[in-house]
Amino acid sequence: MPTYRELLAQVKAEIEEVSTPDVHARLDDGDAPLFLDVRETEEWQEGHLPGAVHVPRGNLESRIEALVPDRGREIVVYCAGGSRSAFAAKSLQELGYENVASMAGGFSDWKRNGYEFVTPRVLEPAQRSRYARHLLIPEVGEAGQQKLLDARVLLIGAGGLGSPASLYLAAAGVGTLGIVDEDVVDDSNLQRQIVHSTERLGEPKVLSAKRTIEALNPDVHVEAYQERLTSENIDRILADRWDVIVDGADNFPTRYLVNDASVWHGVPVVHGSIYRFEGQVTVFHPGAGPCYRCLFPAPPPPELAPSCAEGGVLGVLPGIVGSLQANEALKLVLGIGDSLAGRLLLFDALATTFDEVTVKRDPSCPVCGDAPTISEYVDYVEFCNLAGRGVAQ
Ligand SMILES: [Zn+2]
Repeated sequence: MPTYRELLAQVKAEIEEVSTPDVHARLDDGDAPLFLDVRETEEWQEGHLPGAVHVPRGNLESRIEALVPDRGREIVVYCAGGSRSAFAAKSLQELGYENVASMAGGFSDWKRNGYEFVTPRVLEPAQRSRYARHLLIPEVGEAGQQKLLDARVLLIGAGGLGSPASLYLAAAGVGTLGIVDEDVVDDSNLQRQIVHSTERLGEPKVLSAKRTIEALNPDVHVEAYQERLTSENIDRILADRWDVIVDGADNFPTRYLVNDASVWHGVPVVHGSIYRFEGQVTVFHPGAGPCYRCLFPAPPPPELAPSCAEGGVLGVLPGIVGSLQANEALKLVLGIGDSLAGRLLLFDALATTFDEVTVKRDPSCPVCGDAPTISEYVDYVEFCNLAGRGVAQ
């Protein structure tokens, strides 16, 4: 049986080693190798090479294929001193990776040479525990959780759709949620608007939602806008740098305002709507698909607008549609998956079926088309009597 030293020497003889100055010279290379850090999480958190990817040695074999599908990709593995990375490089060779080297001297030598390194932001222990199920998903992980904590999502309406959307976004750790709603909690809301409760009757919905959300997750800051979205206030509200808008509005004037503003401010909108047993979800992503006006250039005549009548809705339906909206918003923030941009998802609660319709950007769209004809907000308020009506479904 070889001793550890003999085994290490044998492995080092079978792999390629590169010096820290050689690796440093490649750092800003346009064709830089993948720097793979195989140390433990606590070591990584104290500093690592700029642009490096972290996979602890114990997870290397199970994670590397998903991380680096191309076995021809040049990889430089490093650890603290160059031993663990030598064994890691050997394992990668055995898995078929053809262009692997171990950085001799490791991160200790790197720091001794005075080379730059970055210290990652780390989650607090309580956050590591709260978001443990996210940290276990490679597509989210610690970096994704930081993105969520840094994210700002604006919800239009704290009603049927805004309730589940805001609760799931808050639970997921989206750090800042803006909520726009002028209404107060009414007993007819409680059949579906689960962010509110009986004890909140008569309370402004934005404050009721803020209390529920901040009780659920103290990491989340809620910015409450107790006002109805209008052409007068929309630019002020959107100036607060939102990453994603979740539109839960139930009326045409608000939908058109949100649409036009989102195109002009370049913010993606996760759109949802519900009626009786039917729900619709899509994403209007400026530059990556159609906008609402590509589908409906102008509102229907007032007498045909369904939002002018009280629309019935099955209580759970906004729960399903609002949760799908939260899913789209999380994906947009994380930059993962395929969004619903260009696809309108239709849900039928009675049949329990999902259908999908492809929707395309219209080059003649009055707002996002090649020669836009609308360049200022259009107030459709007078076309439908909104007095006494809340903004949210
Ligand atoms: Zn358009």
